[in-house]
Amino acid sequence: MQNTDLEVYEVDAYDAHAPKEQINKGYWCPYCRTWDYWKTNRLGYKACQICGIGDSDFYVKNYNKLWNRRGMESKSQKKKQENIQKKVRRRSKK
Ligand SMILES: [Zn+2]
Repeated sequence: MQNTDLEVYEVDAYDAHAPKEQINKGYWCPYCRTWDYWKTNRLGYKACQICGIGDSDFYVKNYNKLWNRRGMESKSQKKKQENIQKKVRRRSKK
């Protein structure tokens, strides 16, 4: 059976990835490394249609800047966010 429409995504469930470019079409999935419009699933939250990660995931929130939108930003979260951004910057210099 041949399915030429089949798309293969490389899902890295162990490491979150920053978007290479800010396309801002829907949500960035740090695990599938794709921009996509996420739909609200049966459980009532938006989730990646490929790997199923929800928008409550720390990295999903971080890369899609969901903290401010939901008014959930606190000092400790902001610090964490800054640390991650520093890590990403260091990594991308390689
Ligand atoms: Zn995904």
